[in-house]
Amino acid sequence: MKAAILTSPQPVTRRPLGIVEMADPKPQPGHVLLRVRSCGVCRTDLHVVEGELPPKQPQMIPGHQIVGEVVGGATKEIPLGSRVGVSWLGGTDGSCSYCRRGLENLCDSPTFTGYSVPGGYAECALARADFVFPLPDALDDLHAAPLLCAGIIGFRSLRVAGVEPGERVGLFGFGASAHLAIAVLRAWQCEVYVSTRGESHQKLARSLGATWVGSETERPPVELDRAITFAPSGDVVIAALASLRKGGVVAINAIHLDRIPQFDYDGLLWGERQLRSVANMTRADARDFLALAAQIDLKPKVTVFSLDQANEALLAVKNDAVDGAAVIVP
Ligand SMILES: [Zn+2]
Ligand SMILES: [Zn+2]
Repeated sequence: MKAAILTSPQPVTRRPLGIVEMADPKPQPGHVLLRVRSCGVCRTDLHVVEGELPPKQPQMIPGHQIVGEVVGGATKEIPLGSRVGVSWLGGTDGSCSYCRRGLENLCDSPTFTGYSVPGGYAECALARADFVFPLPDALDDLHAAPLLCAGIIGFRSLRVAGVEPGERVGLFGFGASAHLAIAVLRAWQCEVYVSTRGESHQKLARSLGATWVGSETERPPVELDRAITFAPSGDVVIAALASLRKGGVVAINAIHLDRIPQFDYDGLLWGERQLRSVANMTRADARDFLALAAQIDLKPKVTVFSLDQANEALLAVKNDAVDGAAVIVP
């Protein structure tokens, strides 16, 4: 099969992914073999490729938003030829104290697709049969891919922030994840306030029904009940915190932040405001979100790249040059 492989993390401008021919993955018990039909590009892939997330393996195929067709290892629930999605959470031990408490997103021994096990920037991929999600026909290959991490984890962020229908919610940053979260918020009749850099992201936010749109340094004109930050920047987290009402919550949807600057506790956090991180996802988040996405006919805006253009796709995500989501079609 053809695959994009990382051997040494480097800035993406140096084209760290090599496009190579290699053997197909060997079948393994409890796993399905997938022919990859599409794979979304996530900011986390960038952190893997550039090394902000330290390497777990000597070489790695990134990609954790895989739409695949089952071509091996089929089961009764997942028959040959069925279409499934694979996300960031590639597996858990099922036995640690977090798994036993129903918090599998915090598992002590997880595997992560495209980070600790090979991912979907390839023609084929292997996935644990109990960690794939059958995809409704309403979600086609291209539009389902960005739902599988950007969508699911964006949805989890709304849960972590405790969003209630009709509330005022701020989205700080407007990339792949936020442009899906806004559709869910609109379905819940929330008012959405978007602070983001870039004229085209601002325009997209307006077209998707934001009540107010400002630049990344502008403060929304009202106090927010909840805010979700998407940029890997601590300054953005503080801006979000400064926009909250008393008792409000900021959920940080980022696996990596540059730093958290020193901030004024009395003015910003006191008043029972909360700052929470969003870590990974559970299979229940995935199932609930995919059902909702099909129900509200959620169609991400996508830009397609070939597998040969995997480095370019990552660079475009890094530079915020993609409206909506980038998707690789091998
Ligand atoms: Zn566990
Ligand atoms: Zn992701």
